[in-house]
Amino acid sequence: MSVHISADELAEAAAGLLNPARAAALSEHVAGCAYCTEMATAISQVPGLLAVESAPTMPGDVFTRLEAVVAAESERRAAEGSQSASEERKRRRRKGGR
Ligand SMILES: [Zn+2]
Repeated sequence: MSVHISADELAEAAAGLLNPARAAALSEHVAGCAYCTEMATAISQVPGLLAVESAPTMPGDVFTRLEAVVAAESERRAAEGSQSASEERKRRRRKGGR
């Protein structure tokens, strides 16, 4: 089992920022790995990364996307939490009435 390629490196490869040797090793792994192929496809579909030539701090885009996913996930969890909290309140109100 080999280690998967990081989103950062896939993005750099898509933008042509990796040195040829690393890019070759990377594309070899991607060719034989469904997971990394999917990742590379997803990354190549991010429009922001296409403008990487004018933005050398590109990995930030990847982190922004990851952060957005994490934020959405924690928001979802927070929503679930508040739902059970309001249920708790209902239950308490029912109990409170004489
Ligand atoms: Zn992989």
